[in-house]
Amino acid sequence: MTETVRIAISSCLLGERVRYDGESKLQSWLVDCGEVVWVPVCPEVEIGMSIPREAIQIEESYDGIKLFGVESRQDWTEQMNDFTRQRVLQLQAADIAGYVFKARSPSCGIGDVPLMGALGQSVVGKTNGRFCDVLMEMWPELPIVNEVMMLDAKQRAEFLQRVQQNTVP
Ligand code: SF4
Repeated sequence: MTETVRIAISSCLLGERVRYDGESKLQSWLVDCGEVVWVPVCPEVEIGMSIPREAIQIEESYDGIKLFGVESRQDWTEQMNDFTRQRVLQLQAADIAGYVFKARSPSCGIGDVPLMGALGQSVVGKTNGRFCDVLMEMWPELPIVNEVMMLDAKQRAEFLQRVQQNTVP
């Protein structure tokens, strides 16, 4: 890549120990991406969740899609939605040209997150993480991938090419 590009990334993929279990998910392909400025974002920690913390899950309810603590039943939906709208504006102002999300996360996943039925008893489908979902709605043209796609050299090259094209010189 000839220009330095800025790519947002789920913080745990950079090795930050921000996951619900206090661990990270550092990725080996990071060293194969050239001159990239990685901009870490952890929606769950940034809205005030602790490390470690209880698991959260997405549920279908009578008044829409919700984000609940599995044990506590704390409803994080509005907090996450409000935070995301502000955070996306910040990322746009920071000239972010792409985003690598953590797969299967109830906040960061792209289309692969279990959607639970009412009261969270059973899986009824798949959906986006709540942060990712609002970001995609606000910023549909932003190139996005998850870390599973980035493991594949061809998909990684295609993503980095799209990011390069999306970078303001
Ligand atoms: S997947 Fe997203 S919300 Fe979960 S720890 Fe990683 S950055 Fe934070």
